Amino acid sequence: MISLGIESSADKLGVGIIDDTGEIFANVRRTYKPPKGSGIHPREASDFHSTYIADVIRDAYLESNLTPDEIDLISFTKGPGLGPCLRVGAVAARTLSLTSGKPLIAVNHPIAHVEIGRLIGGLDDPVVLYVSGGNTQVIAYSQGRYRVFGETLDIPVGNCLDVFGRNAGLSDKEMPMGRVIEIEAEKGSNYIPIPYVIKGMDVSFSGILTHTTKLLESGKYNIADLSYSLQETIFAMLVEVTERALAHTKKTEVLVCGGVASNNRLKKMLDEMSASHGKGVKFKGLEANLAIDNGAMIAWLGLIMYKAGNRTALSDTLVDQHFRPDDVIVNWR
Ligand code: AMP
Ligand code: MG
Repeated sequence: MISLGIESSADKLGVGIIDDTGEIFANVRRTYKPPKGSGIHPREASDFHSTYIADVIRDAYLESNLTPDEIDLISFTKGPGLGPCLRVGAVAARTLSLTSGKPLIAVNHPIAHVEIGRLIGGLDDPVVLYVSGGNTQVIAYSQGRYRVFGETLDIPVGNCLDVFGRNAGLSDKEMPMGRVIEIEAEKGSNYIPIPYVIKGMDVSFSGILTHTTKLLESGKYNIADLSYSLQETIFAMLVEVTERALAHTKKTEVLVCGGVASNNRLKKMLDEMSASHGKGVKFKGLEANLAIDNGAMIAWLGLIMYKAGNRTALSDTLVDQHFRPDDVIVNWR
């Protein structure tokens, strides 16, 4: 069985094609770039997606050497994400499904990150730290659902890094802002105290962002030391919550995914936590191509859901900006 998946929940537009052995035939992506100094504007990002969706689908077919009639299933991201962006993917998926007569599956984006991680990372049952520009959640499977063990109470961690970088006048023209800050942080060494905000199992970044921006504006600290201090603080918070989820669930695997998962310092901290948490606790990251938003992960989740008997009625294909992983009954594992 071969599945085509469309991802369009934020700035990335992705189309992936995968089969039921997990072989990826295509994973094409284009990214909307906002003007310098501003964040993602949902309507502009959705205009970008509308402009390029047909090209990206065609490129995926070309990369896969498959023809449309060889596809058995169409999957797309139902949510969470930016409404206008999600709608472009949903409309394209409905169109492909209706014109080809192939079934349509609407999938949850964070669960797709988890499932591609299980497939590619060779993991069975991980505690997942999902950290991106739009999401921050600690997710683990328990009693028939992917439960959210901890999450941000306000802005996502990637957004905190991005806005701090913009406030500091750093440019993300050449590489993602989080990577720019990572490079700055490697030059820093003085830890400047920054509030450490965990509430129960949840984390909060908006006050930290304001505080760090004020430190920057005071002119007393350099960007390298502030980047270093910001990273050390917010990553320690994320690693702490991940470890508490690990302790609670007694699982033995940790996976990190999302754009911020590319960060070497975060991966090192998670690796150290896993090794010191208990014997045999295994930590895994993914290569960037599959850790960040992509169509293959959507195609894969659609495929395993379909094989488990799930079907999406056309009337159920409206997007849901706030679609939570724990809303989905997991009948495929
Ligand atoms: P996503 O939302 O999954 O597409 O990921 C985008 C987010 O990942 C943005 O906030 C980026 O700044 C962030 N990001 C990308 N590379 C890195 C990195 N090396 N370290 C920290 N954050 C990063
Ligand atoms: Mg994502």
